[in-house]
Amino acid sequence: MNMMTELKTEAKFVDQFGRGKRKLRISVTDRCNFKCVYCMPEHPEWMKKHDLLSFEQLYHFCDFMVRRGIESIRITGGEPLMRQGVVHFVAQLQQLKKLGLKRISMTTNAHYLKQYAQALKEAGLDDLNISLDSLDAHQFKQLTKKDLSPVLEGIQTAQAVGLPIKINSVLMKGMNEDQILPLARWSVEEKIVLRFIEFMPLDGDRKWSSEYVVSEQQILDSLRTEFAVTQQRSDSTGSTSEPARQYFIDGHPIGIISTITNSFCGTCDRVRLTAQGEFYNCLFAPQALNLKTEIKALNSSEPLSELSLHAALSQYIWNKEYGFHAIEQRLKHQSMNKSSRKISMHILGG
Ligand code: SAM
Ligand code: SF4
Repeated sequence: MNMMTELKTEAKFVDQFGRGKRKLRISVTDRCNFKCVYCMPEHPEWMKKHDLLSFEQLYHFCDFMVRRGIESIRITGGEPLMRQGVVHFVAQLQQLKKLGLKRISMTTNAHYLKQYAQALKEAGLDDLNISLDSLDAHQFKQLTKKDLSPVLEGIQTAQAVGLPIKINSVLMKGMNEDQILPLARWSVEEKIVLRFIEFMPLDGDRKWSSEYVVSEQQILDSLRTEFAVTQQRSDSTGSTSEPARQYFIDGHPIGIISTITNSFCGTCDRVRLTAQGEFYNCLFAPQALNLKTEIKALNSSEPLSELSLHAALSQYIWNKEYGFHAIEQRLKHQSMNKSSRKISMHILGG
């Protein structure tokens, strides 16, 4: 570390509401072998391969961010296991643990997990979030355009090699809200933590409407028909930065991420980078900060590269808005068309 670097180890990123940033999500590709109705556009325009940041560049960015307070890195996509070299990237990130990084996680659709679980474990991955929206093979195919069985096999393999997992299930009215109880039963039987996610307006074709949202209350009502549901007290106050409100069903933990009806934006400590270097201070930020040039200059002989990246990021992160509802309100007042926002989950990574 040179002197300039050492001086800046103290400077952590914080927004105007005092929320320090401790979690970084890196999307390593926008490509995906699934076509989830709530995520992927019908006709995706993939990023060009030569526009993607290399793993080396991503590593230097992670190093830069860990020295400024990032404790947790989540690798996501698109489908992260579709990008060649991602296992090596996980292994490389281990070096940042001596600088303060505590967790390296991945979010995956699990289709290729059977093949990669052992290697990910050996590379030091700490945990996995796996998307699974239905246990009904026909419905699963309608939702994702892919088969359910490789996903279940991937989950089994991850468990067998000892990777801790959580399941994420996005619920959409008229599509899979009948899966609340089957998924809940399955999670209890398999002793896996499940989190239901309210459908957010981040689908590629902008078809989101509040009518499709299965709310936290509706999920709880459904769970109560079969389980004794209790809320974990510490998270009910919103005092942690976890996005999910935590409950127990018959004593088994379950989470609900209710960004639309009961959001946790007030404690958000996350920031995000897309595969081609666009930085988002919020999932719903109308504008990204394009950092491609600055990231490419990191670790170069250019002595001011860290300073200019730090200055750009500090200001952008400071200006992070309060959250989803605040941004919606502002855009409404300014009569801005939400659909002009070019943000979709397959690019942002969730
Ligand atoms: N392909 C991987 C996967 O599906 O797990 C990682 C990327 S995916 C974009 C990350 C997470 O975003 C998944 O858990 C997915 O269910 C969630 N997601 C995608 N679109 C969403 C939406 N419109 N609303 C809420 N969650 C969404
Ligand atoms: Fe692919 Fe994940 Fe989006 Fe589904 S949610 S289309 S698996 S990126």
